[in-house]
Amino acid sequence: MSENITRKTGRRSPHGAPADSDAEHEARTDSEVEHGAPADKDGAPADRDVEVVVVGAGPAGLQAALTLGRVHRDVVLVDAGEGRNAPAAHLHNVVTRDGTPPAEFRRIARGELAAYPTVEVRDGRVTRLRVAEDVSAAEEEVGEKEGGERGGTAYLVELADGSRLSTAKVVLATGVRDELPDVPGVADLWGDLVAHCPFCHGHEFAGRRVAILGAAPAPHLAALLRPVASEVVVLTHGEAAPDGLPAVVVTDRVTEVTRSGDGVLVRLAGGGTLEVAGVFVATTLHQAAPFAEQLGLAANGSGCVRVDERCRTSRPGVYAAGDMAHVEALPMPMTSVAQAIASGSLAGATAAAELIADEQAAVARAG
Ligand SMILES: Cc1cc2nc3c(=O)[nH]c(=O)nc-3n(C[C@H](O)[C@H](O)[C@H](O)COP(=O)(O)OP(=O)(O)OC[C@H]3O[C@@H](n4cnc5c(N)ncnc54)[C@H](O)[C@@H]3O)c2cc1C
Repeated sequence: MSENITRKTGRRSPHGAPADSDAEHEARTDSEVEHGAPADKDGAPADRDVEVVVVGAGPAGLQAALTLGRVHRDVVLVDAGEGRNAPAAHLHNVVTRDGTPPAEFRRIARGELAAYPTVEVRDGRVTRLRVAEDVSAAEEEVGEKEGGERGGTAYLVELADGSRLSTAKVVLATGVRDELPDVPGVADLWGDLVAHCPFCHGHEFAGRRVAILGAAPAPHLAALLRPVASEVVVLTHGEAAPDGLPAVVVTDRVTEVTRSGDGVLVRLAGGGTLEVAGVFVATTLHQAAPFAEQLGLAANGSGCVRVDERCRTSRPGVYAAGDMAHVEALPMPMTSVAQAIASGSLAGATAAAELIADEQAAVARAG
């Protein structure tokens, strides 16, 4: 094996450090951390070099870390602790976990990860992600162009606490945040009596009257809710109603929604009120983290990161899973815990496969 190729990742050590032996890799020394990890262009070394950094420990990131931990890949999973479904008391539509509180889901998953010694979970916030400059330079020296082949590029991951990781692969699983309709009371009841997804919340309102706020989401939501609710009311909030809705239509503007017993009181601009069990809304999705921009990742029309069928983004060695990403063929992400788990597993498996490909390429280069 050539002197300046690392065993695990197959990427060149930027400082020409000797290749790791198995034992060396398992027990990194302080001096290796100081001298063996890529530095950014300011010259500051990373605190630790790791095979994969997973950013975000929602269902997607937790599963990606588990998948990588199962094959003993060296992983740091960093999480800021603000899961999208945190406002909901229970999550649904996840087999074996139907009705589990979101925090409990995360607690169980972290407990499972604790069994895998190559997986470290850190509570913290990643603030910046970038290509490690000196590794790019090292690659150029041997005629490889960044993006020309998958693998080989290294990334620097900066955390809010000032620590830095360098890594060959990054799995982004930072999720999205919801921009809610600007109607008083909606934000207060969000995740409880105001919901967006009948698969997540519909059954809890079974046999009662529910409302849909807004004309645009009404056709799809009304059709989904019709078998569940005793009555579906579409509150168009001043907009024209789409034709053929399987619902009662109210075109008055909504001035407020408030809790009323175990349901919602809807106040209308004309002075009328309506009691419903719950209100469904459509939200606008925004990336929860700035890494797609920082890394210049290709995006879909939805604003989510574009990935291929194996969760690869437009940057080599960067994968994305969960709500924040989807394939180009879909108009928007399939946002659910089960889908996030599935894509997290795929992203983890792809990262593992590309680590192996890097290692094999490194061996071939070394002759
Ligand atoms: C109110 C509500 C209720 C829902 N109920 C259900 C349900 O019952 N069933 C269902 O299947 N789906 C439900 N969903 C959808 C579900 O929450 C998402 O599909 C799922 O959480 C997506 O998982 P994820 O891992 O992609 O993202 P998330 O669960 O949002 O996790 C992303 C993680 O990344 C972390 N993160 C973000 N930025 C950074 C950073 N810079 N550094 C470090 N960490 C960072 C966040 O803190 C967070 O922990 C619900 C959604 C909402 C809004």
